Amino acid sequence: MKLCWFNDHRLGLVDDEGLHDVSQALQALPAASYPPAQPGDLLIQHLDLVRAAIPSVLPTAPRLALDAVTLHSPVANPSKIIGVPVNYLKHAEEAEADLATFTDRYRGSIEEQGLFLKASSALTGCSEGVRLAFPQRRTDHEMELGLVIGRVARHVSEADALDYVAGYALALDMVLRGPEDRSFRKSADSYAVLGPWLVTADEIANPQELDLRLSVNGELRQASNTRHMIMKLRRQIAWASSIYTLWPGDIIMTGTCEGVAQVVAGDVMECTIEQIGSMRVAVH
Ligand code: MN
Repeated sequence: MKLCWFNDHRLGLVDDEGLHDVSQALQALPAASYPPAQPGDLLIQHLDLVRAAIPSVLPTAPRLALDAVTLHSPVANPSKIIGVPVNYLKHAEEAEADLATFTDRYRGSIEEQGLFLKASSALTGCSEGVRLAFPQRRTDHEMELGLVIGRVARHVSEADALDYVAGYALALDMVLRGPEDRSFRKSADSYAVLGPWLVTADEIANPQELDLRLSVNGELRQASNTRHMIMKLRRQIAWASSIYTLWPGDIIMTGTCEGVAQVVAGDVMECTIEQIGSMRVAVH
């Protein structure tokens, strides 16, 4: 099932016929309390309830053209966005070959470097686009598989790790180059793009075997397959869950492949991951 948020807090189901407004299914959500019973995203936490309600609202759901709506992040309220540094060997090699740009903190194994966090407020959908925070400096695209946690995960095993995934999406881990801490350079507003929708985990037989690519203005920049990750998805989830509790809606940006390069205002990034979909993201 492909689920998205669009326009003014509308819930969409995407299928071969296009986009269906299934917002009525949100009535299956329990009433929100304050303070919340747990951190994270209410829809992802109760995804099973909403999914079960969709078939009954679908026959009367309004249909819209996908290219006529504003697509927001398919996760509205993650408690955190986790990043995996330098997780493809060829990206590690290009970073090592250009330390003036990539800075020497890229050396060492992922375990030695640790995971990093992006501000949740950096999150945006594909329609809003990326707004350069420092137009005079270099901002790069990092095309990644985005993984969304579906249930509370704490000290989970690698064997069980994928059972904790709600679904997958395309992710752009945008980054300002320079000497500052990663959390500063990757957390400006709109520097975490997730979209165009969430594909539920049951639709992806093997997330560790997906082609991904990114073009800018029609020129191919990044192309790889998730099989080339140095730290695999299961290990990412298990390791992260040994450090901090993973809450429903938490996002892992699982690392970028080679071909990382600069974008400038006016560029349009076209991103694709097989079995998930494609999105166009403008740079402002
Ligand atoms: Mn990244």
